[in-house]
Amino acid sequence: HLLVEQIDPELFAVIQAENARQEQHIELIASENYASPAVMWAQGTQLTNKYAEGYPGKRYYGGCEHVDRAEQLAIERVKKLFGAEAANVQAHCGASANEAVFLAFLKPGDTIMGMSLAEGGHLTHGMPLNMSGKWFNVVSYGLDANEVIDYDAMERKAHATRPRLIIAGASAYSLHIDFARFAKVARDLGATFMVDMAHYAGLIAAGLYPNPVPHADVVTSTTHKSLRGPRGGIILMKAEHEKAIHSAIFPGLQGGPLMHVIAAKAVAFQEALQPGFKLYQEQVLSNAKVLAETLSARGLRIVSGGTQSHMMLVDLRAKGITGKQAETVLGAAHMTVNKNAIPNDPEKPMVTSGVRIGTPAMTTRGFREEQARATAHLFADVLDKPHDAAHVAAVREQVDALTTRFPVYA
Ligand code: PLP
Repeated sequence: HLLVEQIDPELFAVIQAENARQEQHIELIASENYASPAVMWAQGTQLTNKYAEGYPGKRYYGGCEHVDRAEQLAIERVKKLFGAEAANVQAHCGASANEAVFLAFLKPGDTIMGMSLAEGGHLTHGMPLNMSGKWFNVVSYGLDANEVIDYDAMERKAHATRPRLIIAGASAYSLHIDFARFAKVARDLGATFMVDMAHYAGLIAAGLYPNPVPHADVVTSTTHKSLRGPRGGIILMKAEHEKAIHSAIFPGLQGGPLMHVIAAKAVAFQEALQPGFKLYQEQVLSNAKVLAETLSARGLRIVSGGTQSHMMLVDLRAKGITGKQAETVLGAAHMTVNKNAIPNDPEKPMVTSGVRIGTPAMTTRGFREEQARATAHLFADVLDKPHDAAHVAAVREQVDALTTRFPVYA
């Protein structure tokens, strides 16, 4: 600390301000979490200095004997955590994990099928401005009238368009996904089946959300969301695909792996293998249920009728406020959220009619049902009178009183 403060006081002040924001705000962004001090320590070690192109035992650089062991530990632990036959822990992030799968299995111009971004999918699953949308012919599936994935329509469309790769997984879908159903469609068509479990990975590791690993050829994930590790990506696969995936990551897509991040992934997987992690994830689910029920009782509609996971989409239209406005005014009350389109959203993507919220971060700081309920009421209080600055300031004081009682890193 002292060193950064002296060498770069300007940057040090920025970090201190961000630390204070993370302590003070109720973090409701569904894709965020607080990594443990052990994970952050590993990421700050000398392993950042090491070049290790290649894989354990087969490197293009000398001096890799120790980082080899770090990578092996990460691989062994993540395989155990999810019951996977093989794993790659080098992907720099979730997007590059997905790109590696495309590089391994597809050629430009091939047809891929993913969940529509407007209905909950991720931009790397075929959004027109993303590489996945530019280089491939994208067909999308979405939701039925009850805002549940329309599996029948997906199956019909897949048979009509014969994609080479089918992707299941979402960034804004609160219910369980029927991975077996997708797998059957992919099998019938001879397509590769990929699951992007980034959002649900922590719940899956704890056995509290359906595990896609037995059903999919490849499963990608981030490590920093519900899984609570460092910022990064992983790929799990059937043994037969190991060579293709490894070669797509390196030398296909990346150069030297981030060995300090891989070490931090190993620590996070070790934490996730402990019994306490299951208790944490049970609390994540329970807090999400309370949040959804309390918001519903306060007149806010939850998309898909509720949640079976850590996250939910809140339809704000009953309060006459857009997602963009809600993000700003909730932020002013020290509750951090992100605006998010709801199905058939009448507003533009930069405005939206919804916000996406989740409970992994609040649960890490120790919130239980009582605090989740209080958070929902504070959230609804803000949206009841968003233009009343004194009212918003009064809510902010209550938020600050709550977060002060639940320090994250102190
Ligand atoms: N896949 C899904 C389902 C996601 O929600 C995200 C991130 O939000 C990603 C992939 C991309 O991860 P990253 O931001 O690490 O590239």
